[in-house]
Amino acid sequence: MADTINQAARKGILVDTARCIGCRSCQVACKQWNKLDADKTVNQGTFENPRDLTSALYNRIRFVEKETPEAVTWRFLNERCMQCGDAGCIKVCPSPGALYRTKDGIVAYNKEKCISCKYCVSACPFNIPRYDANDKVSKCNLCQSRIDGGMTPACAKACPTEALKFGKRNDLIARAKAAKKEIYGENVLNGLGVAYALEGPPEQYGLPPNPSIPLSIFLWKDVIKPLGILGFWGSIGAMMLHYVTIGPKKVDDDLNNKEGGNE
Ligand code: SF4
Ligand code: SF4
Ligand code: SF4
Repeated sequence: MADTINQAARKGILVDTARCIGCRSCQVACKQWNKLDADKTVNQGTFENPRDLTSALYNRIRFVEKETPEAVTWRFLNERCMQCGDAGCIKVCPSPGALYRTKDGIVAYNKEKCISCKYCVSACPFNIPRYDANDKVSKCNLCQSRIDGGMTPACAKACPTEALKFGKRNDLIARAKAAKKEIYGENVLNGLGVAYALEGPPEQYGLPPNPSIPLSIFLWKDVIKPLGILGFWGSIGAMMLHYVTIGPKKVDDDLNNKEGGNE
């Protein structure tokens, strides 16, 4: 079951890949607003840099390179937390309030409450959460504080081509559909808060075509964990019943005799 979400009030970003020029202003703006350190990188023979998200990099541009005899072409994908409507990370988190849903539909987090179990990593269909030097969860929270203050997320504000459009999710999707764009994330996982207008199949961009929360998460959350708790309280109950009906465990007579014999 998805955590409670008000679809009408939900805010999000529509990433229009056709408009993205790979300038990475979004990466830089995010670092500046969130006061994130620079990541040390090395040249790996590609313009894509850095090659992965880190605890200090909440969004990045994935370069999808295609080589033909005539030229090398690129497509660009802004990679970040998708703000899932049915969020595996919230679902699996055992620490109340560490990962939570805001009134705008954002999947936010509180590092103070993160217990570093890293279950959210296994539960995320998009491999997004990272852990900082203190082993606390880190990811994009859609610039929660800026939205609360009536502002646009820093990345969308900095984007020079409006490849990142921020607004009410329903309006963004409706406008993209009216423009005959192919939408990724309209309905999967109860709708992604960050949806994409793609120029080709999702696989071409490294996106899973049918993202889903791993089945093992449901087994853990809905079956194994409750059974474990039941087993724990069952043992406590059995011990109490033993105490009430039989009384406290007595010291073994043999042991008493032995000890007496040694005197
Ligand atoms: S993309 Fe991953 S981290 Fe982000 S809301 Fe979805 S499950 Fe959580
Ligand atoms: S919404 Fe804010 S936190 Fe998320 S990637 Fe953009 S700038 Fe970074
Ligand atoms: S700022 Fe906009 S155009 Fe530039 S890389 Fe980011 S999404 Fe693409």
